[in-house]
Order: sequence, then structure tokens, then C-alpha cells
Amino acid sequence: MEGDNQNINGAGPSTNGLLQDQRKLLPIARGRDALVREIQENDVTILLGETGSGKTTQIPQYLLESGASGSGIIAVTQPRRVAATSLAVRVAAEQNDKLGKRVGYSVRFDERSSPETRIKYLTDGMIVRELLSDPLLSQYSVIIVDEAHERTLRTDLLISNLKMIQGKRNHRSTGSKEKEKEKFNPLKIVIMSATLDAEKFSMFYQNAKIIYVKGRQHPVKVYHSLESQTDYVESAMRTFFQIHTDQTPGDVLIFLPGQEDIESLEKSIRLFANQLPHDVMDVLICSMYAAQAPGQNSKVFLPSPARTRKCILATNIAETSITIPGVKYVIDTGMCKEKRYLARNTGGGFDTLLTRAITKSSAMQRAGRAGREGMGLCFRLYTEDAFDTMDLSPEPEILRCSLTSSILQLKCLNQDLEDLDLMDMPDTESISSALKTLWLLDAIDQNKELTPLGRQMALFPLEPVHARAVIASREQGCTSEVLDIISVLSASSKLFVDVAEHREAASEARRMFRHASGDHLTILNVIRAYSDISTTGGKAARREWCRKHFLNEKTLSEASEIRSQLRQACGRMRIDWNVSCGDGEGQLLKSLAYGLAQNSAFLQPDGSYKQTMGHSVIKIHPGSVLCDKKVPAIIYDELIYTNQIYARGVSSVQKSTFTAIGALNRRSS
Ligand code: ADP
Ligand code: MG
Repeated sequence: MEGDNQNINGAGPSTNGLLQDQRKLLPIARGRDALVREIQENDVTILLGETGSGKTTQIPQYLLESGASGSGIIAVTQPRRVAATSLAVRVAAEQNDKLGKRVGYSVRFDERSSPETRIKYLTDGMIVRELLSDPLLSQYSVIIVDEAHERTLRTDLLISNLKMIQGKRNHRSTGSKEKEKEKFNPLKIVIMSATLDAEKFSMFYQNAKIIYVKGRQHPVKVYHSLESQTDYVESAMRTFFQIHTDQTPGDVLIFLPGQEDIESLEKSIRLFANQLPHDVMDVLICSMYAAQAPGQNSKVFLPSPARTRKCILATNIAETSITIPGVKYVIDTGMCKEKRYLARNTGGGFDTLLTRAITKSSAMQRAGRAGREGMGLCFRLYTEDAFDTMDLSPEPEILRCSLTSSILQLKCLNQDLEDLDLMDMPDTESISSALKTLWLLDAIDQNKELTPLGRQMALFPLEPVHARAVIASREQGCTSEVLDIISVLSASSKLFVDVAEHREAASEARRMFRHASGDHLTILNVIRAYSDISTTGGKAARREWCRKHFLNEKTLSEASEIRSQLRQACGRMRIDWNVSCGDGEGQLLKSLAYGLAQNSAFLQPDGSYKQTMGHSVIKIHPGSVLCDKKVPAIIYDELIYTNQIYARGVSSVQKSTFTAIGALNRRSS
């Protein structure tokens, strides 16, 4: 598509002059030469600066334009994919180039780059994955670790590996110097953060130099609720309309924990906005959250039309990674979603997303978003006492998330997590739980050594449990079907739209897809039906079909992208993805069971299910096809905790399957 990145930004070649003017006005622009010099002179630079000062978009361009990055590529890592893609779009426009040429991105299941690419925005997960094929990350001359204060698991692993890599690339003194230099071009590391925690990074890198970039922050008046709010979505809506009717023009940014709350608030604001008197400004709602496709959120960056107030509904992605212009009012629900590993009493541990109170540092960042262009107001939907009891800053992810997939990747690099030089060390319980999972999957042997199977699993851009199922499907002759199902499970949103008011209608509309063996084959039925619709009908027909059956069309289209990526991965590993078992559900369930053996439970005489590899009693989730059924044995995708422990994504399997795949022999060892 000719110039599609320009369209996304509303910035064609004629407006590039304007973009250049905007660049020059950013707070960071004055320090340009000094910054380039510092980065050139130091192996590691810690750069601290107010959100919106221009760190993420400008530093890579300064390094490129000044020639400081040499012939290598500049990598900029981001914890979230939507940040990586939207920043690449912006910087490509600023470089007046098409996305994927000199400026590109690389995120899981999606890449836009070419041999010409000189600045690459990637997720921290992608660059850790690149270590597998290029352990010295030799194609990069500068690696900028952005949003380091978020301390994601992958960022921590990267920071540790970069220290090692730099040692190898910059300080080799054996043999002919010239020859070594050729082979190991030196690496510059830049750690960027928006909060005041630079000391710890500096200490980790032998007292690396810390540079402060001054931002342009105007005063923000903060209001707290007088009483605690029980329903933050409703309270956010009321606060928004108060601002809308009482306050001067200026856009409103509302922080919510996740996509579901964003969608529900959007609906209610829309409903009330339509009933406003004519003399009140119009409302334009935009949203920003992780599961959006590249370009889907581009309208948040466009100026509000005349007589219109923009209302942006965002998750903590708008806290520091992405700066939205025009915001004067912030509404902070005080909540976020946090990934947390549940190891105890559950047999195999796993990650769940929990909605919880934010930290003080988040609350301050959120308020700061109101004061970027002038004086602002921030409305906190929690009391001042609640603020006082908040944690100071979030706990590093490495201390609270599943380590399974990371440990597997490290094993492929001949590294053991226990031996790494890390900023924070995870506890032994979560390391041993991850090792146990890998052992149950046959990825490592009794001596914790990587098996050939484990090495193969690591090559898939998938969770190890899913990679295991794909590999098993080869022997079972059902790779085509397993890829169909795994792509839906790997998509960022759920396939089945779950709205409390329409639960019965939805279940009725989806009756035709129900498969007696459970939710996995039900998903397969949906995919088959969707692909029939796709071949016979157009876009409108597909959309209508999804709406009618309460299916999330975005999940289906994302899944089909993921599926093509997985087919390519299979191709590289000489697994024929086209092999199909037709209606041979036994083979299909067996393949899945290879991956999900740890997520299995047997029926008890009293009608409950007990985990085979843990001690918990679980129930089948009401949303499952198998909800009222009593089958001897089940496998499931995940457990969720409410007042009870529910298994979600459930299929019925023969008990003998577990014996056949040798899963139960391992559980007691
Ligand atoms: P920092 O990394 O210091 O927080 P950034 O480099 O992300 O700052 O942002 C600098 C400026 O670029 C901000 O004013 C922001 O609004 C603007 N900007 C960033 N991304 C986009 C985009 N996709 N579209 C329009 N403007 C953008
Ligand atoms: Mg930034």
C-alpha cells in the first residue's frame, strides 16, 4: 500500500515539514548534541526523563542522523506490542519514509522490516527470542532498553544478557585486534526510564552514567474521592460528564484496568452522550489497550474536531509508553491488571491476570498526563487514604510470573536462570515449579538438561504447553486442526463474547458449534464455519455472522494471522502443517493432552474434579460446553479463581490417554 503509514498518522509528505517543526520543539531537542556525545563516549548510558519529552521517538533518530550508530541497527525495546508498532509508525513518518523501510518493528506474530531497516522497535520478548539465533545480537550497534522501570521479566533477562554480550563484544583483547573488531562490533547500551529509579540500573552496570532530561511539566491539581467507590466504571462515567458539562475545553484521559472495562465504559458514555442538549460539545471516544491491531488506535493522536471533546479510554499503556496530545483532564480509577503466578496448592503453577490497586508511582504518572501542555486536573476515584496505603512501585515481574518459557529459552542458550547476574533473583519455589513443568513436557530430562524436543519447542513463538501440542500433532496426523485451535488460544482476546445480560442468548446462538467432547473442538467447529462464511461472503457478511453468534471477529482475524506464522514455523521445522485428521477427534485430543497433561483432573465420586498433578478440587466453568456434564477425565486451558476454582477451556479425554502419553508416570517423581 503506497504510503500507508502516512495515512495512519494523517501526515503525508506535505506535512513532514510540520512533523520536523514538532520534533524541534520537544524538550529533548535542545540536548541533542550533548546526548549523542554522551552515548558515544559511554558503553552504558542511563537516561531518565519525563514522559513525553521525546526519549523514545527522538534518541534513535539522533543516533542515526548523527552517524553515531555506525553501520549497525538501533534496537528500541518496549514491554508492549502496541507501543512498539505505534512508535514505529510515528518515527517512520518523522523520517518521511514508509513503515518497514528504514524504520520498522518486530513483535510476536508480526514484523515490518527490510534489509534497509536501521531503527527497529521490538518487544522485549522478541529480542530475547533473537538471542536464540544470534547470541551476541551482532546486527545491533545500539540497544535501547526502554520503559526499563516496568521491570518486565523479558526486560530483566535482556538487561542481564546485555551485560554479558557487551563484555564479549567490547572488551575482547586476544588475537589480532583488527580482526576481533571486525567480528565483534562494539555495542552501546542505553537504558531509558520515566521514573526515578535510575540508581539501581546504574549500579548494575558498574556505576554507569545517569543523564537527566528535563521535561515540560505544568502543575496538575489532584482531587481525591471523599468516599471509596464500589463501581469504578460507573464512577468514571459520572466524573467524565461532570467534566464535560462544567469544565473548559480539553481532552479527557481515563485510566482503566483492561479491555472489558474500556468496552463497557465506552458503551455507557456513548449512550448518555447521545442524550446531551445541543449546546454541549460533542464527545469523541477513542481507546488504547494492548490487544489492538496496529493502526487501530491511530485516531487518538489526531486533534479533536471543532466543538468536540475527545475522551480517551486507556489502560496503563498511556501511563508512560505512549503520550497522547491534547489531554487536560485525567480520571484515574486506581486499578490495573497485573500478571501473577499462582504456584501454591495448584500443582502446576500458572499466570493469571488479577485486577488490583495501582502503585503510587503509577498514580503519579497518571496524574502527570494532565499537565503536559498546560495546567491540568486529575480526578482520582479513590480516597487520599487509599493513595497513602498504595505500594511505592510495582514488584519486578521476575518475582511474580511464571518462568517456564524463559527458563526453556535460557536452556537453549546454555544458560541457567540460577546462574545469571540478575537485578533481582526469583525465589527457588518458582524456579523449581517451572523446571517441573518443563520436565513434564519432556523439554528437559532428569538432570535438567535440555532435550531435543525442548529445543524444538523453543523454536515456536508459543507457550511451551502449546508448542508441545503442535509437535505431538505431527505424530498424530492432525497438525492442521491443532494449529487452528492453538492460534485461537494464542490470540489476545477471547473468541466467545461474554456479556452477562446476553449469556443465555449467546449460548443459544452458539449451540450449533457445540461439540460433545468440549471447548477445544467447539472452537474448531467455529473456525470451520467461519472459513465457510469467508469463502462465500464478503466482509459485511462475516461481521454480521460473528455478531449474530456472539463471536469476536477480531479474535478470528488475529488467529488467522497467527496461524500463518505458525505454519511458517512448522515449515522451518519440516512439520507438514497441511496434514489433517478430518473428524478424528481422538488424535486431536491426544495431541492437546501432550501439552496440557499438567492441566488435567479426574472425576471424583462426589461429582467434583480433582487435579491429577495437584491437590485442588476444581469445577468446570459455567461458560464451558461441558459445564453440566460428568466425564471421567478432563484437560483444561486455565484455572480461574473466584469464590471457587474454575477450569476454563475444557475437553473430555479418555483416562487411558494419560497412560498412553506417559504423563502420569512422572507426576509422583
Ligand atoms: P518519551 O519517550 O520521552 O515519553 P516520546 O518520544 O514517546 O516521549 O514522545 C514524544 C512526542 O511524540 C509526544 O509529544 C507524543 O505525543 C508524540 N508522539 C509519539 N507517538 C506518536 C504517534 N504515534 N502519533 C502522534 N504523535 C506521537
Ligand atoms: Mg517513551
